Amino acid sequence: MPELPEVELTRRNLARWIGGKKIADASLDRLVGERVRSVERRGKWLRLPLSSGAVLFSHLGMTGKWLERSRSDGPQRWERARIDVGRASVRFVDPRRFGRMILARDGKPPAAFAALGPDPLVDGLDARALHARLQRTKRSIKETLLDQTVLAGVGNIQAAEALWRARIDPRRRADRLDLAHVRKLVAGIFASIRFTLGSEDAPELVYVEEPGAPNPFKVYGKAETPCPRCRANIRRIVQAGRSTFFCPRCQIGP
Ligand SMILES: [Zn+2]
Repeated sequence: MPELPEVELTRRNLARWIGGKKIADASLDRLVGERVRSVERRGKWLRLPLSSGAVLFSHLGMTGKWLERSRSDGPQRWERARIDVGRASVRFVDPRRFGRMILARDGKPPAAFAALGPDPLVDGLDARALHARLQRTKRSIKETLLDQTVLAGVGNIQAAEALWRARIDPRRRADRLDLAHVRKLVAGIFASIRFTLGSEDAPELVYVEEPGAPNPFKVYGKAETPCPRCRANIRRIVQAGRSTFFCPRCQIGP
């Protein structure tokens, strides 16, 4: 499922393909004639300001992808939207249809976008501010990291990876982490994001849940395989209905 790194790589690709270009044709006809001023990202959202002042918001949902094709190419499998610029054409494909595309004529963001907390890459991430924010919840640190109003862009994969890097048990209560732990967590979040950006960079992204996709991660999806740090078996548990992967030996207990 796309999280901050996948959406950031999508942003870079889209900026290269359609950034600064004029839209010649589109499945949504109100886009025709607009120029894409830039391609921005916040959390798991893409934000494309247009020349008229309107803004196109795009969320990839669980399976959404933007692909570059040529204008003469027919519709792709699971294609939901199309934007043509010059000879190029970008297509939004989304087999599971949880992705969203919102054109805001007045530029006003959807509520979920407006409620986003700080984005680690866009805003930076201050350990003291995060520590203060974590004091306000009794949830586990893993569940709290998935809350987009606390931190924008971290999802199930990045949460598990960052907690492993910071050696923090995902079941530990968020308000029981001291500032030193939160500093390690912040470092873990950045390390995990950077690692994923480096390992998945491609014009066509492949998500780890797809059949046959490579799994570059340290613990995510690696239940019953040895921890890369201490060789204990990685465990899978379920928290708030989502799978969590962690090392029971080298991540400090709840
Ligand atoms: Zn371990």
